[in-house]
Amino acid sequence: MKYDLLIKNGKVVFRNEVKKADIAVRDGKIATISEQINETADQIFDASGQYVMPGMIDTHVHICEPGRTEWEGFETGTKALAAGGTTTYVEMPLNALPATTTKEALDLKLAAAAGKNYIDYALYGGLVPGNLEHLQELSDAGVVAYKCFMATCGSEIPGDFKNVDDYTLYKGMKKIAELGHVLSIHAENAEITDGLAREMIKQGRLKPADYVESRPVFTEVEAIKRALLLAKETGCKLHFVHISSTAGVEEIMKARNEGQDVTLESCPHYFTITLDQFEEIGALAKCSPPIRDKVEQEKLWKALEQGKIDMLTSDHSPCPPELKDDKINNIFDAWGGITGCQNNVDLMFDEAVKKRKFPITEFVRMIATKPAERFNLRMKGEIAIAKDADMILIDPNHSYTVKADNLYYRHKHSPYINRKINCRVTKTFVRGQLVFDLNKGIVGKPLGKFIQPLKISDREVVQS
Ligand code: ZN
Repeated sequence: MKYDLLIKNGKVVFRNEVKKADIAVRDGKIATISEQINETADQIFDASGQYVMPGMIDTHVHICEPGRTEWEGFETGTKALAAGGTTTYVEMPLNALPATTTKEALDLKLAAAAGKNYIDYALYGGLVPGNLEHLQELSDAGVVAYKCFMATCGSEIPGDFKNVDDYTLYKGMKKIAELGHVLSIHAENAEITDGLAREMIKQGRLKPADYVESRPVFTEVEAIKRALLLAKETGCKLHFVHISSTAGVEEIMKARNEGQDVTLESCPHYFTITLDQFEEIGALAKCSPPIRDKVEQEKLWKALEQGKIDMLTSDHSPCPPELKDDKINNIFDAWGGITGCQNNVDLMFDEAVKKRKFPITEFVRMIATKPAERFNLRMKGEIAIAKDADMILIDPNHSYTVKADNLYYRHKHSPYINRKINCRVTKTFVRGQLVFDLNKGIVGKPLGKFIQPLKISDREVVQS
């Protein structure tokens, strides 16, 4: 019987092993996996010498549309994601305007997103002071999880995102536990980091190292511990976003060992940029929690090698160039967010799998399988029969240097420009459709679909 797509001779990365196999796709699903498939297909690709793996499920992306579309938009953002090997992403409830904290705002975002996405997408709902009444409707509308900030965020612009106070955090967790969802948290102590930043500015200490010093590791750990305590009290499932320190990782591991339902993510920049490099690169490498020093980074690599990092996300948080300008001589004034999603899979495959010999199956667990499981995207995240045919090809021997010209972002800047990476995503398929080809660039139409998590009631059925 004829297939739609056939990928032959690749080294296929399954959940527990890597094996040479052919993969055939019909109607967007993986239909056959076999040592050799002899039937024909409309499209046949030879993946000899390349890895075939599930596309990245990047659960931390800021697209900024509607409202701040001049920062990044669905079209440019998802072209970059597709070119970088991501096949599904979860969009954050900020930095679009209005922030996604009500059903009304979510509908505006869905309308803005329709027909512009090159890969599949799911949405986060926000937890902010004053929106407790809206959490249910966001769940009904299909958000995969909720996101809140313990660090200061947002602006005075009406409709912008706001960080939670402890009361909102506590009451929000109670409600989210009732809804059976996960709450994702940006964990940093707002008052201490704000206070230390004011001190630095007063003393005229305006360099990257001063910014990093204003957000010490303990401010991350304190917020993690506070959130874990409230989660224990309320029974809420937690996910900690962009953990930057091993002390943070260890607190989360401890809570998990004591029975709490908690996961964590970290981001490529914490593994690939050090404080020294931040000082050289400048504002483009500013994010929060901040880039740490070499010693802390090595410890974080140890945690990754020990399997303590559940998942990797880009935290792609773009902005216009003037907010990252060289002319900004006060680092505290620069936008805190890194533009990086187009190179994340390559970069981490190179650093973790190639240079540190991290098992490739574990790499795939971090970029695809675990995020799909945690956020209940059950058709995604694995090369297996009947799953969505969301796949990427990686050539482990194709080196390249990141150049601004090759970036699909609305604003072609990134801290990775001029970095040499020793492997490359060469093809990206979403539900069996080729969306990126290294030789041709983005191909085809924006076929990305809005996907919703497995409903709570269905999850129970599956378990029983
Ligand atoms: Zn973020």
